[in-house]
Amino acid sequence: MSRPINFCSGPAALPLPVLDRISAELHDFQGSKISVMEHSHRDRLIVRLFEETEARLKSLLGIGDAYRALFLPGGATLQFSQVPMNLLAPNESAAYLTTGAWSQKAIKEAAKYGNIVEVASSKETNFTTMPARDTWQLPADAKYFHLCTNETIHGVEWFDSLEDLGMPVVADMSSHLLSRSMPIDEFDLIYAGAQKNLGTAGVTIVVVKEDLLEGCQPLTPGLMDYQSQIDNDSMVNTPPVYPVWVLSLVLEWLESLGGVAAVEKINRQKAESLYAAIDASSFYRNPVAKDCRSWMNIPFVLSDDSLDSKFIDASQNAGLLNLKGHRSVGGMRASIYNAITQTDVDTLIEFMREFERVSA
Ligand SMILES: *Cc1c(COP(=O)(O)O)cnc(C)c1O
Repeated sequence: MSRPINFCSGPAALPLPVLDRISAELHDFQGSKISVMEHSHRDRLIVRLFEETEARLKSLLGIGDAYRALFLPGGATLQFSQVPMNLLAPNESAAYLTTGAWSQKAIKEAAKYGNIVEVASSKETNFTTMPARDTWQLPADAKYFHLCTNETIHGVEWFDSLEDLGMPVVADMSSHLLSRSMPIDEFDLIYAGAQKNLGTAGVTIVVVKEDLLEGCQPLTPGLMDYQSQIDNDSMVNTPPVYPVWVLSLVLEWLESLGGVAAVEKINRQKAESLYAAIDASSFYRNPVAKDCRSWMNIPFVLSDDSLDSKFIDASQNAGLLNLKGHRSVGGMRASIYNAITQTDVDTLIEFMREFERVSA
């Protein structure tokens, strides 16, 4: 049988050409005759790997010298704490937007470190909408504004502008960074775990405007001080060298496709075709408002949920993996990150039509 298609939300599918390169180059990193995992991080080859990966990432994002890109441990989850520890004093306020499970987690963690003000929430619609900007109650004294620009579980994505918000903007972009072009200059700090759209678990990308940093809360571990990580080029301690290498290969692959503009075109088409198939059927339904439907994570429910387990079993047997929805939402979810092709999505749509034909 051919290779299965992995629709997992994360850790997610990697591009096949990247897996091929990992396999071909694993034993001999750049002619050194030892693997990338066996090198000291002080080794010139590894220092250069980090420099080149940062340069590549910044170039793909289209950002200049005002920003640094860091490669940090701890996952996006640690950023829920690291952001307020670095940007907030215990008596200061930060503004948070609630749009789904991940922004809820970010608020809960941040509340340990300062006064967190929820400016708006889409909880009332079960996180199927994006609260409009003109409804936000932004406190004038907030040190920063935080949002999750793609809610991986609820399938809601931010497409609006954050221009002229009057305060620094921090965004969790874990599940859609580099899936389409975004006005990165509207953001002052961006973070993303690599294992969704950009690589393997173990490294978290933090892109930060250096002039945002004014020192951390006193109990912040040295390892979690952004300024110290900047000063040490992400090497305050032994960094996750292998995941950074995989990230670098994914970024090279993205460049070879034609960069973000090229992948955006593919991703738009993929999402449009899957949503169109769902909307055309009364057997499947996506509950998210059309203006904020995620291009990356597409939840859908069956009109008859007693067929759910049959759908999961049949899809798995057909080589379509991990379509079961998150336990908090139920139903199904197809995560169609950069590594998933239009052909993969077409195969899913064909399977869904056939399942409907035999079950409805
Ligand atoms: C997966 C995910 C996280 C958590 O990532 P970890 O790397 O597991 O900590 C946070 N935010 C979003 C939007 C995610 O998709």
